[in-house]
Amino acid sequence: MKAILPGLYLLPIPIPYPLKTVNLYLLQGDGEVVLLDTALGTRAARGALELFLAELGLCFQDIKTVLLTHHHPDHYGLAGFLEGLGARVYLHEEEFSRGHRFWREPEAFAETSLRLFLDHGTPESALQDIQETMEKARERVHPPQNPIPLRDGDLLEVAGKRLRVVWTPGHADGHAAFFLEEEGVLLVGDALLDHVSPNVGLWAYTRENPLKDFLRSLDRLADLGARVAYAGHFGPIGDVRQRAKELKAHHQARLEALLALLDGPKTAWELSLNLFPKELDAAGRRFAFAETLAHLEYLRKEGAVGREGPPYRYFRA
Ligand SMILES: [Zn+2]
Ligand SMILES: [Zn+2]
Repeated sequence: MKAILPGLYLLPIPIPYPLKTVNLYLLQGDGEVVLLDTALGTRAARGALELFLAELGLCFQDIKTVLLTHHHPDHYGLAGFLEGLGARVYLHEEEFSRGHRFWREPEAFAETSLRLFLDHGTPESALQDIQETMEKARERVHPPQNPIPLRDGDLLEVAGKRLRVVWTPGHADGHAAFFLEEEGVLLVGDALLDHVSPNVGLWAYTRENPLKDFLRSLDRLADLGARVAYAGHFGPIGDVRQRAKELKAHHQARLEALLALLDGPKTAWELSLNLFPKELDAAGRRFAFAETLAHLEYLRKEGAVGREGPPYRYFRA
């Protein structure tokens, strides 16, 4: 655990994903305890959180407010558990009909999810493994029953601090960053990460152009004037503007690489194997596919590529 400011702590929690840990943030002040993100519903994550709370003389029941940056399992997984113990859970409104619904009503997107993969050339053998990893993920996610919607620009006064909600879609449709304007500290979730580029994927339940959303969010974050950003994974980002610039350049290079791979009509699944040739497990392949599809659809909306099908094959326009 690390104190960032008086009354603001970073809690690194282990997760069984390649990123290894998720950073939660705890705000304490004016007799109030607020947790930003919740980690995944595994015994190890819950145990680690409980120990950090104990170091501060706290227990789960002391958390009365939970702020979520987005609906991904490593951030949202224990939200329902904490809500059950009396916490109010806040989530950006854009997640309600999308990512949040994906966990709350698995049947809502079951058919369209399957169709998305099949329509874009995913072989049935690969799809079976992908579906199994999703089943496993569901066991570790406890969705909140009655989250309270956050809107872009909301000003929250909690635990003696003021946090501005900054809607930053792209990595997730309803991704929210929380900006402590007076301190210049940005709690940026997964919208900016050091070392790795946050996954930007197109899924059955997402907005239609997540990469465009993401690039716009990077501009927005760069212009906030934050002194430092603390992210959902890895260490703090001292130069927000520079990191946003690097991530934009990374996506530009990936768009160019995709165009170069289109020497003839190809499906998104095929292109994802070319673009991410490393050996990946089913979960990794699922992310590689969604990331490739987000880039292809971005190019299609810009008029740089067309597609025929289904099964859809993309070609240079
Ligand atoms: Zn995420
Ligand atoms: Zn994350």
